[in-house]
Amino acid sequence: QDSAAQASDQAQTWRDDFSRVLSPVFGSPQLDIVRGEGSYVWDAAGKQYLDLLAGIAVNALGHCHPAWVNAITEQASTLGHISNFFTSPAQIGLAEKLHEILNLPAGSAVFFSNSGTEANEAAFKMARRAAGGGRPFIIAIDGAFHGRTMGALALTAKEAYRAPFAPGVPGVVHVPYGDVEALEAAINENTAAVFIEPVQGEVGVRTHPAGYLTAVRELTTRVGALMILDEVQSGIGRTGSWFAHQDPEIGEGVTPDIITSAKGLGGGMPIGATITVGDANTGLLEAGQHGTTFGGNPLSCAAGLAVLETIEKEGLLDHVTETSDWLKAQLAEVDGIGEITGKGLLLGLELTPGEDGQAPDSKAVAARALEAGFIINPVAPGRLRLAPPLTITTDELTPFIDALPGLITG
Ligand code: PMP
Repeated sequence: QDSAAQASDQAQTWRDDFSRVLSPVFGSPQLDIVRGEGSYVWDAAGKQYLDLLAGIAVNALGHCHPAWVNAITEQASTLGHISNFFTSPAQIGLAEKLHEILNLPAGSAVFFSNSGTEANEAAFKMARRAAGGGRPFIIAIDGAFHGRTMGALALTAKEAYRAPFAPGVPGVVHVPYGDVEALEAAINENTAAVFIEPVQGEVGVRTHPAGYLTAVRELTTRVGALMILDEVQSGIGRTGSWFAHQDPEIGEGVTPDIITSAKGLGGGMPIGATITVGDANTGLLEAGQHGTTFGGNPLSCAAGLAVLETIEKEGLLDHVTETSDWLKAQLAEVDGIGEITGKGLLLGLELTPGEDGQAPDSKAVAARALEAGFIINPVAPGRLRLAPPLTITTDELTPFIDALPGLITG
């Protein structure tokens, strides 16, 4: 047997085996990925894939970027972990860098955790605590995804995710997406906070109608509620700005009270950040009121710092915008692609309905893409999501554009 056939046999054995050892919560893994470099990953059989999903907007610098690898390796050989009874240069360094890129006013503070969900849980607790028990309600938006632990799950809109775990955390109400009047009707002095994604990712990548975030800011300020922006998916250069709300078109110049970040922040190392803006009423929980063993660990922080410094050093914010402009122009010419939503390298692609009025099955399109060596995400029925590494080039994207019409029609 040659080595490719052997690897293929091994891959098959692994596929047959995973269900004995993995929780079914993971679903059915489609591949065992063994290696990554730049915009590509390889499976156990040695087949190469162009990664247009980047671990769902995680591998900001692509796979195994030398700056990221070096930062983690150096940190691991210097100091791997300490508890939060202590801090480390990596933790302070990453917090300082976040202050810098967000241009945070004095009094702002970063709380590190391990994921987007945890970043939102912390924000949820901050909102409740800031309200001192006097404001029981938190408003979230239809279509929102904020995570799947009980607090974050209460904020997540999808009924199918919440229903099996009822009763959920009380006090969260959802309002229709992009609807100022509905928000105005729901918000009052009993509202502690409004959670909102500047770009809604999981629902299929959509941005709010113009004026919406301005209205949210006005209404939250009017009643004294916090405006919490979940930038877990949209932050860290995805839209061509450090954070999506810093893009004038998306953020409309609003300043939120809390920003949550994760995914791209660690570039593949687990980290979450809950960032309070200013000190009006959003100061972090007092010492001892919330905590985590691994949050802000030196390894993840060193990785995060490498991500932010490399984005800067390699001019990736401009690169994202230029690559996105090219990509959108190419996609607009592809038969079968309708509306293109999102910004930068977080794009939603509508699959145009055929003569029967039915859009092609996005899962089938993604499966054909995988077969052809492209990782894309069927984010919703009739919709695909692209969230490639921020480092991806037009040369790397070209074969995908060429293949796409065939992938859509099958
Ligand atoms: N918020 C948003 C906007 C997300 O897209 C996600 C993940 N898809 C989360 C929160 C949860 O993040 P994590 O999976 O890191 O817990």
